[in-house]
Amino acid sequence: MNNSVSISYVLSAYIELTRTCHQSCGYCSFFSEESPLLAIDEVKEKVADIARRGATEVIFIAGEAPQDFPHIQIALHQNGFASFADYLNAVCREAIANNLLPVLEVGYLDAFTMERFINAGCSVRLNLVCSTLSNPGQSLEKSRNRNPSTGKACIEGLHAAGIPYSLGFVTGIGESEEERLKFIAETGRFCTADPLLQDVRLTPFQPSSGCSMPDRPPMSFAAIKKTISALREAFPVHHISLPPHLCYRFPELVEAGLNDLGSVAVLTGDPTHRNFDVPSFETLKARLEEKNIMLYERGTLSTPVALNRPEVFEAVSNSRKLIERRNLSGLNLIDNAHCFVCGPRNKSGLHIPVQKSVEGHTCTFTWVPGPAYQGYAGIVHGGILSTLLDEAMAYAVMGAEKDILAVTADMHIRYLRPTPVGVPLKFAATLVGQRKNLYFARSSVILPDGSVLAEAEGRFAEIAIPGGKK
Ligand code: SF4
Repeated sequence: MNNSVSISYVLSAYIELTRTCHQSCGYCSFFSEESPLLAIDEVKEKVADIARRGATEVIFIAGEAPQDFPHIQIALHQNGFASFADYLNAVCREAIANNLLPVLEVGYLDAFTMERFINAGCSVRLNLVCSTLSNPGQSLEKSRNRNPSTGKACIEGLHAAGIPYSLGFVTGIGESEEERLKFIAETGRFCTADPLLQDVRLTPFQPSSGCSMPDRPPMSFAAIKKTISALREAFPVHHISLPPHLCYRFPELVEAGLNDLGSVAVLTGDPTHRNFDVPSFETLKARLEEKNIMLYERGTLSTPVALNRPEVFEAVSNSRKLIERRNLSGLNLIDNAHCFVCGPRNKSGLHIPVQKSVEGHTCTFTWVPGPAYQGYAGIVHGGILSTLLDEAMAYAVMGAEKDILAVTADMHIRYLRPTPVGVPLKFAATLVGQRKNLYFARSSVILPDGSVLAEAEGRFAEIAIPGGKK
């Protein structure tokens, strides 16, 4: 490739509502009959957390028709809902109230259920199969009515109900190449002009733990490439995506028509691809730049008819502002829970729950350094102290409401006395001033007897403000 090309993505997160499903697709590693329903209070907590961490889309994922199972009926009742559709409406409202655009990935919906979502502000992700595959030993043998015709009927239902939707093509599960390419072409003729269609995703089968066809080989690169070309031809104006871990492996597919990474669930991981980590943006960026491909963020909805619905108007406008600021700044300040100091998912991190120690614009926490953090014998390494002084100031700047998102521009440290290992150290920081987009903070390390061991002053540059501040 000689010229630079661009590829888009949506900063997304999954919330698993339940894995209970009345289907039994052979390629699936998601479903489980005994899975509980996520309580509505837990949904609210997760939605608020995802919004705070800067996502613009939340995918609520569940098995198909979980309400067919008594334990789900009981849970719905306990949560105050008469039906699964009422519960889904409530989770969508919660997302929109947090400026997140809700996507439902809940299997195939019947016409009656679809009508219940007309004003929910959601879009639906529909996964299609290219062949019937219902003979003994085939991947849809134990699935009820999951075939190309029922998929198309579902598209018709979504269209009739006026619900925006995305299509996913599940391939490499036993269909022939001819069936696959024919179905893609037919589906393109069927709905590429539909203003409710948002984007298109290819999901090539890859064996995953828990699926019932673990020995089936994954689709070859050549077959994926041919399928991407067929999708590009069938859906000439739409975003065509592959799961991000495959884009990372095969960036050259951009030449075949790939132009999107789709929903990148860097905050939560993707429960439908449990065996594959979602690569970080920095990793993806570096890999794609090798091929002269630039990454940019987009919103989850792409057509005017989907964007202009009154239910989502404000959330769309707020998420647009956030995306514009991130694209302009060129920085993706994403909290994916891997921060070295406070990230709960970083196996090598310090796991200090700093956020809990913030009040207003002050931050105070205690940490006991072990010998792993020493420089000279018995003395804490100055670099570690610097890291924690910086962290405390950053949290003080962001404040309890996290309404300011800033990065360290510079900091100055005075080491006053050696800091002993094995003693509780208090880190205290406060915001002391602001000029334009620069915030000033001070922090110190204090022994239990009140003596100050080190002090820091820092300047923090504001970058973007997720969620709250408009
Ligand atoms: S793919 Fe979806 S519908 Fe099929 S078994 Fe898995 S969760 Fe159920």
